[in-house]
Amino acid sequence: MPHGCKALVICCMDYRLQAELPAILNRLGLRVGEYDLVSLAGSAKGLLAPWWRPWERWTLLRQIRLAQKLHGITSVLVLAHDDCGAYGIADWDEENETQKLDLSRIRVYLRNKFLDLKIQTGIILGTATGNLHLE
Ligand SMILES: [Zn+2]
Repeated sequence: MPHGCKALVICCMDYRLQAELPAILNRLGLRVGEYDLVSLAGSAKGLLAPWWRPWERWTLLRQIRLAQKLHGITSVLVLAHDDCGAYGIADWDEENETQKLDLSRIRVYLRNKFLDLKIQTGIILGTATGNLHLE
């Protein structure tokens, strides 16, 4: 029987997310062992940023292609989080609005590149307090 999993999760590398991330994903129907995980500073923030070098963009897109080819994923989940150092925005509302805009652009970008994958996004809140939950 071929091995496989449901999704590829792209999340920020922030250490404060590690302990609770499995529980957050479990509430979305993704148990440990049912997803591949890519951790990058700022999650997929750089995909559309001019300061990301082509090889960085290529590397992230390759992870998606490999997860699809090797593990048969049917969806990609891109997660941002509040109090993210990669965003470096002190004002919560401004950070939240910036992330919502980025995630909407990332959804369009990835949907155009991966027509057969379901592309979802979310924002994890409570990073500074440790009371993590999805917005
Ligand atoms: Zn972060």
